[in-house]
This record gives sequence, structure tokens and C-alpha cells, in this order.
Amino acid sequence: MEDGNGRIGIGILGATGAVGQRMVSLLAGHPRFYVAEVAASERSAGKRYAEATRWILPGDPPEGTRDLVVKPVDAELSSPVVLSGLDAAIADTAEPLHASRGKLVISNTKSFRMKDDVPLVIPEVNADHMALLDRQSWGVPGGGIVTNPNCVVVGLAMALAPLHRAFGIEACTVVTLQALSGAGYPGVPSLDAVGNVIPFIEGEEEKVAKEPGKILGKLEGGRVVPASFPISVSVNRVGVREGHTESVFLKLSRKASLSDIRAALEEFTGEPQRLRLHSAPPRPIVVRDEKDRPQPVRDVEKDGGMTVTVGRLRQDPVYDVRFTLLVHNTVRGAAGAALLNAELALATGRLAAVGAAR
Ligand code: NAP
Repeated sequence: MEDGNGRIGIGILGATGAVGQRMVSLLAGHPRFYVAEVAASERSAGKRYAEATRWILPGDPPEGTRDLVVKPVDAELSSPVVLSGLDAAIADTAEPLHASRGKLVISNTKSFRMKDDVPLVIPEVNADHMALLDRQSWGVPGGGIVTNPNCVVVGLAMALAPLHRAFGIEACTVVTLQALSGAGYPGVPSLDAVGNVIPFIEGEEEKVAKEPGKILGKLEGGRVVPASFPISVSVNRVGVREGHTESVFLKLSRKASLSDIRAALEEFTGEPQRLRLHSAPPRPIVVRDEKDRPQPVRDVEKDGGMTVTVGRLRQDPVYDVRFTLLVHNTVRGAAGAALLNAELALATGRLAAVGAAR
């Protein structure tokens, strides 16, 4: 399915939610893809997208999407690529359904991330893990599931990747300050959110402890051998609209000066930069030297929200080094991550089979 400009159609599951809206917004004016279909719950199905959606981003839904009629999430879609912003309970059945119909499904939820034959990909870090798609068998050409990590993990694994490669990581502790938009819409009740910190997010610490090992793992004989250092996590929900802040403490296997660490972070690039993918930031990590950065209100939109900002890099008396990072949870941590995975799949020929099946 292509539009008059040769762009490939994308179907969005959960298009009315916080992540789905970001997907719709990021696809406006995209050179290779366009929003062809939107799907959500029975509450929204049958309505115009603009009517069904309580738009929480600036402005209005983009031109070309407002009049799309929302489909149910199990509807037969004609787009070869499906970006999913569904909760796990629905994704469990809806995402495999579309894969079994020959779609490349890019998922944002925990359902399939840790399955042996499912790639869990940050394109700058482990683009080679896309090869796990070859182990999936859906009985139709082009069908497959690729997953994005949890939104905290996208920022954390991005910063750990160059340091693990250069110096080895022995142990990691991370304390998070997570934005309200991470809980979706309407999310946390205002009386819990305003002037408050909630030191618990259901299931979050388990995901943050587990997922980086797979992402930083090595693909050997068609399997991922996970990186094996322990991660200790403590999460908090705070009254910030967008952007997860993370205080990270690392023990390294080899001695490294702060300037070595800084250089490893700043010089880090990956396949999206080499392939010049549309959504790739020039540098996936920027390091700031001011004593009070990164801050969500100042830094979260860097390069359209696709850059992870690191600051407060310093030695640590218990660990070796500590720093603070900021990741845009609904862009780099979700919708932008999904789109970059779709761009990577297209650029590396992984949509060719989908094209053949059209
Ligand atoms: P959300 O704002 O609550 O949106 C949920 C979406 O799913 C809506 O489109 C909703 O449609 C649809 N939906 C709900 N119940 C459904 C049902 N029974 N059948 C079919 N569709 C249904 O949630 P979100 O924050 O966008 O999160 C979506 C997923 O992304 C979750 O798995 C979350 O863990 C993950 N994620 C979120 C973030 C973030 O920062 N928010 C980051 C990374 C990953 P209606 O509008 O019709 O109800």
C-alpha cells in the first residue's frame, strides 16, 4: 500500500493513546511512510480519528489523519507495517494476529520483548539483532514482531552501550524520576500527581533490570547471549509532563578517566547515523557540562526528542562513575523508537518481503 508519493502505508494500533498520538504526529511529513490506517478500542472504532482522540499534543491532529475512520484493532489492515501503541493485555493477541497476516509489527509493550526469537532493538545499539526476525515463523512472507524497550531502558541502554563496549560494566544502579505521560492518558489522577512523588510503578523495576542485558547482549549462532552485569533499580513517578530523568551509578571493569567516559558517550553513533535514517539524531547522546543539566523543560526536545542528554558526569566514591540522563519517554522511549525501527527495517531490506507480499 503506497500513496501518490511512493510512501509506504503504516497502520497504527492504539492510535488514540499517548504513544499512538506521538506516532501519528511523527509521521506527518515523513518522506518514506504515511499514516494509512488507525485502530483503537471499540469505544473509538467507527469514529473519525479527530473525534475519537483527546489530542494531548500541541495543536491538532495532522492534516490527512483527522478524517481517517478508526478501526478495531483486529481489523484486516492493508498496510505492510504496523506500529503498535497498545497495552500488553490487548497486544498479547492483536500483535501476533497482524504478524500472522504478513505485517511487520513494531511493538511498544512488554508482551514479546524477552522472547528468544523477538528482536528488542535500539537501532544505534543492536541493529544486528533484527536478524532474529529470521527465526520467527508466521507462515506468511513479511510477518514478524520487533519490539522497542521500555522507555527508561531506551535511555539507560543507550548510555550504557558505549561504556560497556569501551570499559566493561560490572554493576549498575539507577534511580528514576519518571514523567506523567509515561502512564498514558488520562494516566495518574491529578491529586496523586501534583506536588507529589510516587515511589512505585507497577512492573517497571523488573523491566529495567532485565531488558538492558538482552539489548547489550551478543548475537551468537542466531541467539542473543545477554550481557550479565546486575542492575539495581528504584523508580519514582514525578509531576513532570514529558521526559524521564535517571541517576545512574556504574562500576566499570577497566579504569577510565572522566574524559575517556565523556568521549565514549559523545562519540557514540550507530546504524541510524551511518544509514542517515530520517528520524536519527546527529548524535544519539549529547553530554552537557553545566552543573544543573539535563532538565526536562530545557533538554527533552533536543533533536525532536530523539537525543539522550547526559550531564553531571562525575566520579563516585562507592561506584566508579555517576551521571544523570534524560530521555523523552514518548518519543525516543516509544513512538520515535518504533519509527526508527521501521526506518531501519526498510533501509536494511527487511520490508522487501513485505513488499513482495503486497
Ligand atoms: P494509553 O494512552 O492508555 O493508550 C492506550 C491505547 O490502547 C488507546 O489507543 C486505546 O484506545 C487502546 N486500547 C485500550 N483498551 C483497548 C482495548 N480493550 N482494545 C483495543 N484497544 C484498546 O497508553 P500509552 O501510554 O499510549 O501506552 C501504550 C503502550 O505503550 C503501553 O503498553 C505502554 O506500556 C507502552 N509505552 C508507553 C510509553 C509512554 O511513555 N507512555 C513509553 C513506552 C512504552 P481508546 O482511546 O479507544 O481507549
